[in-house]
Amino acid sequence: MARRLILIHPDPRLRKVAEPVTEITPELAELADDMLVTMYEAPGLGLAAPQIGISKRLIVLDCVKEAEAEPRPIAMFNPEILWSSEDRSIYEEGCLSIPDQYAEVERPAEVEVRWLDREGLVQQERFAGLWATCVQHEIDHLDGRLFIDYLKPLRRQMITRKMEKLKRERARA
Ligand SMILES: [Zn+2]
Repeated sequence: MARRLILIHPDPRLRKVAEPVTEITPELAELADDMLVTMYEAPGLGLAAPQIGISKRLIVLDCVKEAEAEPRPIAMFNPEILWSSEDRSIYEEGCLSIPDQYAEVERPAEVEVRWLDREGLVQQERFAGLWATCVQHEIDHLDGRLFIDYLKPLRRQMITRKMEKLKRERARA
């Protein structure tokens, strides 16, 4: 398993609509493992394939927060939101492609999601709380959407400028 490089916003690869996965090959299962390693090491709660420059509908997540609790790594191929609650909740979100920037985003509080697991089996589950926010955030990545798109334009521009500066500094280092 290998750690992958995470793209930083702004990057055109983060804005592309990702391709559906037609078959879960051993290479794609391995990619899911690499993404989990990359996510845990970052550390982060979720990661989408476009964030490592791969335009496939694949996300990984683990929103277990308590240090003493069992981890629950999930890889979802072709995840789809089947239902969203009318109830909404607000969480402070961050993103591994937008390091050290956080903002409150309002989303449906619960979602029902269907996906293919790494064995190619259909899974369906209703998520609430942090899991619901996280899975929506990651699925957004597959459609080229970032959490800053939900913010007011001025705030979004400020964050984007900070990221451009960060990328220039990293390129120089
Ligand atoms: Zn993200």
